Amino acid sequence: MIYECVCNIRAPLVTIFRLRTGHNRLNKHLHSKLKVVPSPMCPCGEAEQDTHHIPQDCGNFQLLRRKMWPEPIRIQDKLYGTAASLQMTTTFLNWTGLHV
Ligand SMILES: [Zn+2]
Repeated sequence: MIYECVCNIRAPLVTIFRLRTGHNRLNKHLHSKLKVVPSPMCPCGEAEQDTHHIPQDCGNFQLLRRKMWPEPIRIQDKLYGTAASLQMTTTFLNWTGLHV
């Protein structure tokens, strides 16, 4: 029997899981739950760094966001949409260089 390697899909699934649950390495979680960073704020200074702010609003990633999503789409679609939609979200996060 031949088993298909899932190595190339595991990392994106982990990213989506971390975004959905809020258990991730963004400042809001690291500060409020783990107390390992001094502030929940995003380096942009506009809001707490969380799983809504980064894909939807962060000014530091506005150009990358428009490159991936020329038209605004809902956060629900980015986190709970089709496989293609989820793949776009994980690619966008890779572009940001953030380790979620
Ligand atoms: Zn920001």
